[in-house]
Amino acid sequence: MREGIQLIWLEDFGRAVGNHLSRICPNVTMIPAVGLFEEFGQIVVLAAPRPADDLCELISRRIYREDKAFVPVIVTGTQITLGPVIQFGRGTCWNCWRRRLLQHSRNPEYLQAISEYYTDQSTCGGPLGYLEAIATLVAAHLCQVIDLLNEGKEVAGTFWRLDCLSWRTTQGSVVGVHDCPVCGLRRNSETRTYQEMQDKLSHLWNREM
Ligand SMILES: [Zn+2]
Repeated sequence: MREGIQLIWLEDFGRAVGNHLSRICPNVTMIPAVGLFEEFGQIVVLAAPRPADDLCELISRRIYREDKAFVPVIVTGTQITLGPVIQFGRGTCWNCWRRRLLQHSRNPEYLQAISEYYTDQSTCGGPLGYLEAIATLVAAHLCQVIDLLNEGKEVAGTFWRLDCLSWRTTQGSVVGVHDCPVCGLRRNSETRTYQEMQDKLSHLWNREM
């Protein structure tokens, strides 16, 4: 198992976040988001100046298989979202985050169209240019999240968002979708309740009289 933090970067903004993080946080390995990732570090960060849902979904599923942590940093329009922090066995997966975003958005069609655009044309670049101050700020917050993960604190499912026009920040925690096949109970939601009851009460009718 590879120790440390792996920062996968997309385009100039992603690389700038990685460079700043490397200066303030030990054990950071930077790799460009091309090709297949053979081995993951204990904490995987993806820094991207545009939506990269296909990549996030792929990393999220591997995190769940390999008992590691994933922290995405994604820019969508004027907003930078750090998180949600995805950890095996805790919080939610990327699939749940996407479903919740679409569920609560005033413009779900807009979010879906942007996502599909970058998924279909994954080799094309996102918006050019970025502010160095914002890359520094994101790296500093990433460092805090990594410290919390290393200390074993409960950060799974939490996210932090910065609007680059208003400089307003918000924080929150994602609630998983109850029938999610990745992070849910992995049971059919229609039979879950009575099957669980049968399992828990099976001693009543298996007992020898
Ligand atoms: Zn899920």
